[in-house]
Amino acid sequence: MDATRIERVRQAMAERGVDCLLLSAGPDLPWLTGYEAMPLERLTMLVVPRDGHATLVVPRLEAPRVAERPELFTVRPWDETEDAIDVVAGLVGAARAIAVGDRTWARFVVDLQRALPGRVWSRASEVVGPLRARKDPDEVAALRAAASAADRVAAQLQAGAIPLVGRTEAEVSADLGRRLVAEGHTRVNFAIVAAGENAASPHHEPAGRVIGRAEVVLCDFGGTYPGPGGAGYCSDITRCVYTGEPPTEFRELYAVLRQAQAAGVAAAAVGTPCERVDAAARRVITEAGWGAEFVHRTGHGIGVEEHEDPYVVAGNTEPLRAGHAFSIEPGIYVAGRWGARLEDIVVATEQGPEALNRADHALVVVDA
Ligand code: ZN
Ligand code: ZN
Ligand code: ZN
Repeated sequence: MDATRIERVRQAMAERGVDCLLLSAGPDLPWLTGYEAMPLERLTMLVVPRDGHATLVVPRLEAPRVAERPELFTVRPWDETEDAIDVVAGLVGAARAIAVGDRTWARFVVDLQRALPGRVWSRASEVVGPLRARKDPDEVAALRAAASAADRVAAQLQAGAIPLVGRTEAEVSADLGRRLVAEGHTRVNFAIVAAGENAASPHHEPAGRVIGRAEVVLCDFGGTYPGPGGAGYCSDITRCVYTGEPPTEFRELYAVLRQAQAAGVAAAAVGTPCERVDAAARRVITEAGWGAEFVHRTGHGIGVEEHEDPYVVAGNTEPLRAGHAFSIEPGIYVAGRWGARLEDIVVATEQGPEALNRADHALVVVDA
């Protein structure tokens, strides 16, 4: 467990009037302790009283995977014949205001609420979310390394080193995933491959469609890369290539997209509200007449989770702060025909926005 992080968590608990924090499976636990709980029917839960010592309640058979840090938390293994809910309830004691991890399964929350009547429950993200959103230098370094690894795969795609024509989207998706791992990722989170008309569906599920000549291939992929304190940090990049010479109409669409993406990155300065970053990218696309075809927000925060705070979306008035890491990924989707998206991960710094992805932003023509 990171000593400064637990200190910051306790401070945030005090500010929000939270007496006890309960973290189960999900990204808060590895962010805080370096330990990632398996999402099992057996309960794992870190109990963090605002003032007392923290305890990690784990199934006995999972305990050997935990690296104990006695100065920060005690490990309390529970046996198969014990009731883990009772163990947690005993540790919570008289604490009244309880914040529970957002990804905790309902079966555990419901049972805990029954075992701890009369308490006030809130989401742990209200405590931990703002802390996780601002990355420290080690976390930024991990995101940078993850982005570089994803860039190397994008460069292989753009160099024509990944065969496309004649293969299915699913085959290319698996290939991208293998390459992410070869470049140092420990896990593949997704690898969207959408060819031709499928590129008009932002979260297309790659399947049996065979990639042909003279069409766009949209590739959006990312994984988890080893980071500080035992936690993994995510990469996420989108590049489009064309299997042959693109028609003028598509070149024009892509030029607008590229300009919009650059405008979004340039707008992402410390102090700028998230919604204004979204507006900066969206304005370019709207003025070119494609506003209705840009159907999603401009970006999402990224860290130990692929999608986390802050969200770059209309209505989010939160100003960017140094250490915020997020995607800038406008898209233009013409149903039944084609689509394109361009995505980089960006960090807000006092010196201005730093784009972590450096892979070529052009619409590269590949003979692959
Ligand atoms: Zn997405
Ligand atoms: Zn993406
Ligand atoms: Zn993304």
